[in-house]
Amino acid sequence: MAILAVKNHGQDAHATKLPRMSESSEPKSTAIRGPKTSHILAGLILGAVAGVLANILWGSTAALANLIHYVTEPAGQMWLRALIMVVIPLIFARLSLGVAGLGDLHKLGRVGLKTVLFFLMVTSLAAMLGLAMVNLVRPGAGLPQQVRDRLLSTYHQDASGLRATPQGGSFGIQTLVNVVPRNPLGAAAQGDMLAMIFFSLAFGVALALLPAERTRILAEVLRGLADVMMVIIELVMKLAPYGVFALLFTVAARFGLDLLARLGWYIVTVIVGLAIFEFAVYPVLIKVFTGWSPPEFFRRAARAILTALSTSSSNATLPTTLEVCEDSLGIPRDISGFVVPLGATMCMNGTALFEGVTVLFIAQVFGMHLPLSSQIVVMVTAIVMSMGAAGIPSGAIQVLILVLEAVGIPGEGIAMVVGVDRVLDMCRTVVNVTGDMLTAAFVARSQ
Ligand code: ASP
Repeated sequence: MAILAVKNHGQDAHATKLPRMSESSEPKSTAIRGPKTSHILAGLILGAVAGVLANILWGSTAALANLIHYVTEPAGQMWLRALIMVVIPLIFARLSLGVAGLGDLHKLGRVGLKTVLFFLMVTSLAAMLGLAMVNLVRPGAGLPQQVRDRLLSTYHQDASGLRATPQGGSFGIQTLVNVVPRNPLGAAAQGDMLAMIFFSLAFGVALALLPAERTRILAEVLRGLADVMMVIIELVMKLAPYGVFALLFTVAARFGLDLLARLGWYIVTVIVGLAIFEFAVYPVLIKVFTGWSPPEFFRRAARAILTALSTSSSNATLPTTLEVCEDSLGIPRDISGFVVPLGATMCMNGTALFEGVTVLFIAQVFGMHLPLSSQIVVMVTAIVMSMGAAGIPSGAIQVLILVLEAVGIPGEGIAMVVGVDRVLDMCRTVVNVTGDMLTAAFVARSQ
């Protein structure tokens, strides 16, 4: 009898209410296959190279500005939006099935606690590495006054615009209150991830508490919904090489290499820090906590990593992350369905590292010395704020202002970094998404 249709990969379903599902309710793999990872990579490299060339050759022409405005930017955005389009129904279906599939509340508590503690541990490591790097390199110390003033005036507008965004407002008690949605449909309509996660968790718990025969049809419907969303994603991912090309072309053609060169040491500090985390720290954690050989893990995870790099969004990457976890890393659906949506919202290791570096960089540029106690405040706020950051492009910038304010640094300092944020965002999203897969693999193994 197929009760909650959650694939358990050979593990016995728990609780008597959740007998093992039958073959007939196994997920049907679709005939549609997305593009090869190498094609996405080609779109990424070609887009970046073509964009930089266009910037060098026609940087200040109206023709290039029009091409970006009317063609590449809308094309890239439409692809990105199509990815994000499925996230809310997918999170709802997969998270509630994931929770229900865990069977009993004790198991849910164990898995939940393990997941959140692991998130916290890894995010703390990332924030510490960021602070160590920025203290070592001191990228803000030598930035010429003139460059600083130019950046501040050029991006002032963009930076003050960010303050007005909902996430950038306040991260106080109200944020906590808002985690409980008054109306789940309203939360879904606004794309409020934390509220949706809360409702989906509650829905899953209730599903698990009801007798199996009363939830059978609902569970089948939820599984069908999740499967349909995955098919949409596979269709959208077919366009990935073109979407990625458009996104990368837009960024590269708009900014060129000039701005990157001016903030050189800051960018180097962030990217080297993220690279150390991705390629030195994660492999150790992968080996110790998941049992995978790191090269094999990365090989299998490549598709999600490239999607993260090209979309700069953990949310947009979520369906691909789920697919990689289940199909390539063999993680049971109930575990990945629980850990990955949570991770896409809460586990932002790259973001925490970035915030630590950026806050100290801005302090250095303003000639402010932050004693160890303030740096600890930066670290703690960076960890908390990374959890509060939305998994969307530049989600970190919206909460950065709060980390700056925590240690009394003028918020306008953000203006210095917004211009180059897209490139850094791509890299930190890779670290964020890898962290989600690592956590899912760890939890799956420990269960
Ligand atoms: N873009 C990041 C993500 O989606 C968040 C951020 O750091 O801005 O994971």
